[in-house]
This record gives sequence, C-alpha cells and structure tokens, in this order.
Amino acid sequence: MIVVRTVAEARAALDALPRPLGFTPTMGALHAGHLGLVEAARSRCASVAASIFVNPAQFGRGEDFRRYPRDEARDLRLLEEAGVALVFAPAAAEMYPDGFATAVHVGGPLTESLEGVSRPGHFDGVTVIVIKLLGVARPDVLFLGEKDAQQLAVIRRCVRDLDLPVEVVGVPTRREPDGLAMSSRNAYLTAGQRAVAPGLYRALLAGAEAARRPGAAAADVVAAAADALPSLAAGLELDYLAVVDEATFVPETGLGPRSRLVLAARLGGTRLIDTVSVAVPSNGHPRPTPTTPATSSRAYPVQDATGMEGRTQ
Ligand code: AMP
Repeated sequence: MIVVRTVAEARAALDALPRPLGFTPTMGALHAGHLGLVEAARSRCASVAASIFVNPAQFGRGEDFRRYPRDEARDLRLLEEAGVALVFAPAAAEMYPDGFATAVHVGGPLTESLEGVSRPGHFDGVTVIVIKLLGVARPDVLFLGEKDAQQLAVIRRCVRDLDLPVEVVGVPTRREPDGLAMSSRNAYLTAGQRAVAPGLYRALLAGAEAARRPGAAAADVVAAAADALPSLAAGLELDYLAVVDEATFVPETGLGPRSRLVLAARLGGTRLIDTVSVAVPSNGHPRPTPTTPATSSRAYPVQDATGMEGRTQ
C-alpha cells in the first residue's frame, strides 16, 4: 500500500493504478463501517484508494475538531489489511494552502434543513473537500456511507449539478451487535451513555415498523419512533426526528419510494446521527423491515411525543 501526502504524489501514484478506481474519503479513526466502504469498493473496482483527512472546514466553532480521535498508524494498518492500494493523508496546508478562496455551496433544503440547521456551514466544508479529493484522485466510483444520509444526498446533488465524472454509491450502515451505528464519535461515550445509545436505532426500527402498516403517514412513523426513544432522564436530548425524501431532504407527509427516517440526538457532549429507510415502493408493497438487534425490548422509559424538542415537528 502506498501512502502519499501531497497532491502531486497522489496524482502520479493514482495514474498507475488499474481502473476502475474506487475511492472512499474518511476522517480516520477507522471502524468496520469505513472498512465496509472499502469492501464495497473492492467488489466493484480493480483498485481502491482512500483518504484520511480531518477536515477543519466541516467543523463548526465549538465542535470537536481538536479532540477528534486520530490514530494514523492504526488506520493505515487497517486499510492495508482491507486491500487498499493507496492512501492520501495530506496535512491541512496541502489541502488549504495560503490564499485558498473557493467555496462550494449546494443550496436549498439539502443544506438548509436538519444537519444544515444544527451545524451551520458544515456542508460547505464537506462539499469543498470532497470536490478537491475527487479532483486529486479522479476515481471512477465514490463510495459514501448511508449513515450520513444528508451528506450523501448533498454530494449526489453536487456531482450531478457540476457534471463531475464519477458514480456515487451509497453503502449501508454498519452497526454494533446491539444496533448502534458505528461511528468514530462513539469513542466519546461513557459506559452509561453507551448503554443508552442503541435506543436510537430501536426507535428508528419502531418507526420502520409503523411505516409497514397499511396507510401509514410520515407523522405515524415519527410518533412511533418518538414513543420508543430513550427518555430525557436517560440523558438523551433529541435534536431532530423527521421523515424526508432521501434525495432532496424535503420533509414528507405521506410515505413514498424515497422516504427516510432521520434522527440526531445528543448524549452528554456527543452528537449522534442515525437513519433507516421507511420507503414504501410505488407498487404499495412495503419493503422488509430491517433486522431487529438482539436487544429489541425497550430497556429505557419512553418519552412522550409531546416532550420532543425536535425542530422539524
Ligand atoms: P467519516 O470518517 O466519519 O468522515 O466517514 C467517512 C465515510 O464513512 C463517510 O462516507 C461515512 O458516511 C462512512 N461511514 C461512517 N460510519 C459508517 C457506518 N457505520 N457504516 C457505513 N458507513 C459509514
């Protein structure tokens, strides 16, 4: 596996790799979710490249840029074992040299709702770095996680709008055995918070179950998920819980083939996001329910739907 630090080195080394080339950008602190992206890329592409870059531009003031977990030696080992051919791990000055002045802004509900409200400027930071990385790596296929569903939708829109010559593939979320979506930020959780965290996925599964009932509307899905959420007393603060069209992030009232239930919540100082599809295909037959985690019973007191703090309700 080749490790390169500069744009020039990356270009030269990438040109020599067999095509098609799959690419997966990461911020390091790798877990099995990231490695799932690499696996998906290997199954589709002749070679796979990855990047490790904790992108300062996508962190807001007061967010966790400084304390974001970093362990490059471990990350490189995992990527090599996973069969990655090249890793681009630049310093911030390589990506944002003196005089850097370009912004890339995707407009509308895609960036102005939900994560866009909670994390102002976040998506501008994401789009500029992803476009830069695409310009460096020039991959045939870009692999992104469905866990960051809004980010995936923003990048799909941007790639389409700018006619960027890359296919974007969304990869299903990898979870811990108890259902918690894998995330580098899970490392921040205390033992008590870690015990509460799988309740988020259980709530999403309750929403998905409600979506399967004939005639279910988005409000029924949100209510079922809210009812199953761990309580405020368990230390959970809901940021948002909503059903949106996964391509546009416009809130939905009815369920359709692109309906997605999205959730963000805070446990102490840690912000967690998760999502499941609640799509009802246009033929009216609901898709199968996601697998229920081993601990599917409600282990925590439920919060009354009227107690929700969500902005989108
Ligand atoms: P990050 O390092 O958090 O910027 O994530 C890099 C990529 O990994 C993004 O495309 C994420 O959506 C994806 N990702 C993060 N967590 C997971 C997960 N649990 N399952 C699948 N993909 C993930």
